[in-house]
Amino acid sequence: MLVAVPFRFSYTAVGDPRRLEIRAQPVYLDAQHVQNPVRRCPHHQDAAAALMSNVQSQHVRHVLQTQHARFRYEENGDRCSVVVPLEPLQPATDHYEVLYEFTCMNTCVGGMNRRRILALFTLEECETGQVLGRQTIEVKVCKCPHRDLKADEKRLGLGRIGDKPDRKRRLTSSPPASREQRLVVEVDDEEMLQAVTEVRDSMRRYRRRVNPQHGQAPPPRQ
Ligand SMILES: [Zn+2]
Repeated sequence: MLVAVPFRFSYTAVGDPRRLEIRAQPVYLDAQHVQNPVRRCPHHQDAAAALMSNVQSQHVRHVLQTQHARFRYEENGDRCSVVVPLEPLQPATDHYEVLYEFTCMNTCVGGMNRRRILALFTLEECETGQVLGRQTIEVKVCKCPHRDLKADEKRLGLGRIGDKPDRKRRLTSSPPASREQRLVVEVDDEEMLQAVTEVRDSMRRYRRRVNPQHGQAPPPRQ
């Protein structure tokens, strides 16, 4: 099942945003693969083609797709990208959110083959195609994000304190609203704090999307 992931874009001083658009494409992270286009695996490509109409099949080869209402899929050889317009910010907001879907996993045989990927976003002028800005973020698409997150944390030495009983402690100042266990993670500096916080927020958004009740306080007892 595909899960749409929200990406937020913030911008200032771009003039009229309607003359700009955001191109998104997956690229390989490691230097030895970066020249190769990220292709969708034959299995998912065939499965999607069987479900799609002729109109929809224009983007069957695209690993990175969007739920944006105004999209444009482009293919430059085997390099696939999707373009959405940059829209004026809504009042009282400082960001613009676009939902993207990743239609293959990093482990897909015949596709990414366990290679790491980045989502590459470029801000471009509609008429000239001139690139005005560029941003990347590493993306991991997997069946069990929670399990893989824990494995990655362990690999990076960010193990949760709960992994070691003698260092485990519960928060006493703010008791959890539900039965979920809350753990405290020690970090070494601001950079690590920001990285861990981003992972946590990403996990929370994912869980809320899968289970809208997640993280809400239980109803009061009668
Ligand atoms: Zn696949």
